[in-house]
Amino acid sequence: MSFSLTIFYDPTIQYDIVDQIIKALKDVFNINFVSIISKPLLKNTFDKGRNQYDGQKLLNSLIDKEKLTYFLWLVDKDLYVPGRNFVFGLASQYFGAIVSFHRLETMKMKIKESIHECGHILGLGHCKENCVMQYSKNIEEANYKPNTLCLDCKKLLLENEKKIDENKD
Ligand SMILES: [Zn+2]
Ligand SMILES: [Zn+2]
Repeated sequence: MSFSLTIFYDPTIQYDIVDQIIKALKDVFNINFVSIISKPLLKNTFDKGRNQYDGQKLLNSLIDKEKLTYFLWLVDKDLYVPGRNFVFGLASQYFGAIVSFHRLETMKMKIKESIHECGHILGLGHCKENCVMQYSKNIEEANYKPNTLCLDCKKLLLENEKKIDENKD
């Protein structure tokens, strides 16, 4: 019951940070293999007026064009999605996710949001319990939630990991 994760990272992020994120993800999820690939953001997803990148376009570029699954893209630029001023991250369940470190100053926050997005990759939705899968609309809420999964999400995760394992071949 394990899966392979591809970590993409914006080359402007220090490698040490990428390394710490991977260690933290391995503590929470059954990841058996990680490929780590440097990937700068696509220039045509930058909105000059907003001074932000379009997170949805970035995510779609990997899912629709490159047909990738189980990837987490770590970036340090500010992201938005249509209708929202900014996002800490965004995901497409069973495909992949992006986390932006732009508004997450501490390592603890970067790790927490990376765990949250990885949970989405493995099919978890938002959770109302005391849980890392809580939705956070601002930095206070993101700061307040724990960096661990609640029991319900842990149970669901095990079921989802089993499904992923069965679908492998
Ligand atoms: Zn979320
Ligand atoms: Zn939960």
